Formats: sequence, structure tokens, C-alpha cells
Amino acid sequence: MIEVYKFGGASVKDAEGVKNLVRVLENNKDKNKLIVVSAMGKTTNALEVVVNDYLNGLQSPESLSEVKLFHRNILDGLFHHDQEPVYFKVDQLFTELENFLQHNKSNKYDFVYDQIVSFGELISTTIVSDYLNTRNITNNWLDARDFIKTDSTYRDAQVNWTRTQEKILDLLDPGKLNITQGFIGSDSNNFTTTLGREGSDYSAAIFAYCLNAESVTIWKDVPGVLNADPRYFEKAQLLNKISYEEAIELAFYGASVIHPKTLQPLQRKEIPLFVRSFMDPIPMGTAVSKGDGIDPAIPCFIVKKNQVLISLSSLDFSFMVEENISEIFRLFHQYQMKVDLIQNSAISFRVCVDNKFNQLEKLVQHLKARFKVNYKTGVSLYTIRHFSEQAITELEKDKVVLLKQLTQNTVQMVTEN
Ligand code: ASP
Ligand code: MG
Repeated sequence: MIEVYKFGGASVKDAEGVKNLVRVLENNKDKNKLIVVSAMGKTTNALEVVVNDYLNGLQSPESLSEVKLFHRNILDGLFHHDQEPVYFKVDQLFTELENFLQHNKSNKYDFVYDQIVSFGELISTTIVSDYLNTRNITNNWLDARDFIKTDSTYRDAQVNWTRTQEKILDLLDPGKLNITQGFIGSDSNNFTTTLGREGSDYSAAIFAYCLNAESVTIWKDVPGVLNADPRYFEKAQLLNKISYEEAIELAFYGASVIHPKTLQPLQRKEIPLFVRSFMDPIPMGTAVSKGDGIDPAIPCFIVKKNQVLISLSSLDFSFMVEENISEIFRLFHQYQMKVDLIQNSAISFRVCVDNKFNQLEKLVQHLKARFKVNYKTGVSLYTIRHFSEQAITELEKDKVVLLKQLTQNTVQMVTEN
């Protein structure tokens, strides 16, 4: 059986990170592995700048030189002299990218984006693979685009599971230590596609599903999944075990745990997912697996900042019924507002939404034709899963609560800030 390991950008943000990856592997040598690696550090963001510069008419943007320099520094931190083959391989990848910039005729943003941004992962895995070889960890570099087959929805490619499964069964030797890219795939014309930002976890899950892997481990800069985001809550605690359903629920309420897309294929085959710290590779971190709820059974706190609370009532005090409400939802959908929370009474309807696409003004204009509209921006939405009275009291202590809703397992509160 094979284990899938995924290393994100933060774990390979510099030469030290790559050296540490070797330590993680040396501490966990017993089983066959497939390793999925993201672009190094903030490379994807940097390449997004290259895309914009290029589409604004720059053929060889300064932003690309910065990406080159960043990787050159990592190479210099890992290898003794610049005659090593890895320098040529990385140069070749940059040349390929520059050739694309010169010859490309398309001005379709999403297509151009995928052709450029994917080089982050191709370069990172080339460096990591060669470095592992110099450390006598013999490995096999795979181009994920030969395996992850998708449709042509650039930047949000949908996996073709049948073709992906075939490719993985035909072409991948699970008896070797394989290393490949997260985030990228290819369509039926063999153009590069990407699975959406932060998509490398999902890549790991796709490989694990098709290989019937024993487990997936995501190596992160935190000890595992915590019951609260330490940026907003004191005393965050490690969760040892979470069921798939619970992890999906937490993600739904806005916890930046693990993307639900990543969990679904794993849940289908009951492949456990471990989230562990690459700084401390001994403890087992968090296991997401089949089972009930969470362990320890403690409240989980999730906050979404910068939400909008909208209150609507009919202009003539008539009831808010199916017809009005369906009209309201149609508009939310049209203006890409993600609805977090709904509360309605006979004559009013209140909803907390995420104004991700900055279309609030337009939405409100539209709503005003039919409803009395009040709204408040900059509110926060707090969710406590498995709440206790004490947890609610603690949270409410220094806040102005505008709206509160309790269900059996979950309490949600919209607060002033
Ligand atoms: N490198 C890609 C990103 O930063 C994919 C990933 O890290 O998961 O979005
Ligand atoms: Mg990344």
C-alpha cells in the first residue's frame, strides 16, 4: 500500500524548508510514497503578477526576473555548484515559459493564467526531486499533467475521473518513490489546467483515490487542525480526530481546515487524512477519518470577518413568503453573494452574506425596487460548533450581537465587528 504526502508552499519556501522535507521523509521511511508538492513559498502569487504584466503587454516582465532570482537563491542554498544538472533543468523550464510568452496568441485570461502559473509547481518539484537524489533518496519525477486529466475550465478545471484513473493505473509505478506537482493537470488537448487556488491538497486526494492509498498526509506549519483560528482566538486546542462529515461542516462554516473538495474523494474510499506539522514530524497531528464528531469533544470556533447583514421587508407590510424569498435568492445568485445565515419572520427577512465579488451596491439597487432595504457592512459572523453555554457567554462578552441563531449542534452570531 502507498501513502500520499503533500507539502505546501510554506513547507518549501526556502532551502531550509527543502532540507527539512528530507528530515520528514527520513523519519517516515517505512512505506511506499507518492509526494505531491506545491509551488515554493509565494511563487503562485508572484506568477499571477507575471500573468497580469504579460497581458498588459510586457513580453519579459521584471516580475518574471524576480521569480527566477527567488528560485536561483534556493538552488544556491541546496547545491554546491551551478554546473549541477538541476540548474539546467530549471533554466529549461524558464525558457519554456518565455517561449510561451513570445509565441502565445491567446488573450483569454484564464487560459494564459494556467499556462504560466503552472510553472511554479513544475520548478519546485524539479528542485526537490534533484535535491532528494543528491541525498540518496532515489525518486521518480512525474509530470502531473500526464495523470490528472480535466476538462478545459481553466483556473477551475473539473477532473475527468475515468481518464485520470486510467492514466494512473497504466503509467504510474507505485513501487517507486514518486514525486509530482499539486494543483496542475491537463485537458484533452494537453493544454495545462489548474484546479483552483490551494488546489494541491485536492491533487493529493485525487492520486490517493486512484491509487487506493492507505492514507494522505498534509504537512503544514501548524500542529494539525485546531478548534479555533489562533489569529482570532486565544487558547486554540489541537483536535486529535475529526470525522469526514464534521470536517466538511467546519469547512462549510468557514474554517480554513481542509477544502471539502479534498475530503470528498477520501471519504468515498474511507482513506484517512492526517494533518501534521513539518516542524515537528513525530506527533500524529489530526486524523480526519470515518467516525463520529470530534475528539476531544470541545466547541469549535469559526469567524468570518467583513460580512454584510442585510435586512429586507416588503414595501407594503405584506408577508415575506415564497414568492418574495425566491426572488431574493435569485438576486443573491445573480450577484454572486454567498449566503451564510438566514433569519425570517412574517414581515422581515434578514441575511448575512459574503460580498466576495464586490457587487453589494448593485444588489442593493436591485432589491430596493421591491423591498425596504437596510444593510450593515463590516460585521463578523461567528459560528460555534458543539457549543456550550460557557462558550457562548465567553464569545458574547465583549461584542454587540446583531443576530443569533441556534440549532442543535451549532450557534451562529452576527456581531458588530
Ligand atoms: N500553488 C498553488 C497555490 O498557491 C496551489 C497550492 O498551493 O495548493 O494556490
Ligand atoms: Mg501555494
